[in-house]
Amino acid sequence: MQKGVAVLGSTGSIGTTALRVIARHKDRFRVVALTAHSNGELLRQQVREFGPEYVGLVNCEEEQADGWRRGAECLVEAATRSGVDIVLNAIVGAAGLDATIAALAAGKRVALANKETLVVGGELVTRAAAEGRGEIVPVDSEHSAILQCIAGRDRSEIRRVILTASGGPFRGWSEERLASATVADALQHPTWTMGRKITIDSATLANKALEVIEAHFLFGLPYDSIEVVVHPQSVVHSLVEFVDGSVVAQMSVPSMELPVLYALTHPERVSDSGVPPFDPVALSPMTFEPVAYENFPALKLGIDAGRRGGAAPAVFNAANEQAVALFLAGSIQFADIASSIGSALNKLGGLASGSMQDLLDADMKARRHVLESFEC
Ligand code: NDP
Ligand code: MG
Repeated sequence: MQKGVAVLGSTGSIGTTALRVIARHKDRFRVVALTAHSNGELLRQQVREFGPEYVGLVNCEEEQADGWRRGAECLVEAATRSGVDIVLNAIVGAAGLDATIAALAAGKRVALANKETLVVGGELVTRAAAEGRGEIVPVDSEHSAILQCIAGRDRSEIRRVILTASGGPFRGWSEERLASATVADALQHPTWTMGRKITIDSATLANKALEVIEAHFLFGLPYDSIEVVVHPQSVVHSLVEFVDGSVVAQMSVPSMELPVLYALTHPERVSDSGVPPFDPVALSPMTFEPVAYENFPALKLGIDAGRRGGAAPAVFNAANEQAVALFLAGSIQFADIASSIGSALNKLGGLASGSMQDLLDADMKARRHVLESFEC
């Protein structure tokens, strides 16, 4: 029987990839709901093609509305709608948190691309999943790889996981050269074409810090068992070492279609994933190198925030989101992103985190702290 899917953030890089995947698997999936933030034009085309019952545009002019729902409430409405079995959360940033929690509390599967959800509210999110019998299946390629590697194994058999990182566009750059990196430089990712925010996160390696925290909550692993290695070709998507020393890796030609499809069909595998055939010779050499932590301070700041727990990961995320927005607007330098995250964590990392309201306060204070430190 066909499964009903809500695609939140359908106009973005992952959202459009997801719709391509669904279009190829119409026998298995039908689009029940679509939401976007402001791109009404693309959303309208998608509505014509997929005919969803529910359409939400957060930032919608009255004359555009056309029976669509407006405002941020549309995300939770779409995520909890009856007839929706799977919520593909492809929203960027902390804005995706409420919809994830609501979907899990309503017992849905959340195919989660929106990693910020787990960074900001990891404990609340995992509790909502347990209480509501919802299920989180990662879309992020590294976490999809880990899920595939550990399939059927007990957690006690895992010694550590090793997340691969492409190293981003600035791999090998010196500190002096990084000081003059431009927005255009930072947007040139070597192996992936993605939305602007995650592309900058990949240049600072803040993305890998978000992924370490994501792995901690998804797989219930202690931070000491999560490592990062640079693998510039992005063919090995991550590795899992078991207690007997055996290491299992998941590989493919870099393509987000595969992890998106797997998040929809897990634990089943289906053909026609859209991924080009795997040719180990053509994909060689596959190399690995250590992370240059000293040149990419956002990575360690984020991992330390994860270890500290409480509101620190939410502060890390919000400061990063705000600093990336300022960098993309040309208001601050590349190195200012990490330094403003560090400053926000020093000041606000110990804030309370017991409730959703605590997390929202921490998020707001961190954004304000970054804006004020640049007098914006
Ligand atoms: P994009 O910027 O390309 O797309 C973001 C989507 O979210 C768009 O549909 C956008 O709508 C919508 N959106 C933006 N802000 C809001 C908001 N405040 N409320 C509701 N909807 C909003 O991002 P990506 O697709 O690159 O990334 C999405 C998520 O997936 C991120 O968390 C990212 O880290 C993660 N991810 C992405 C990968 C990739 O390959 N791109 C790989 C792994 C993870 P509109 O277009 O109308 O602005
Ligand atoms: Mg990733």
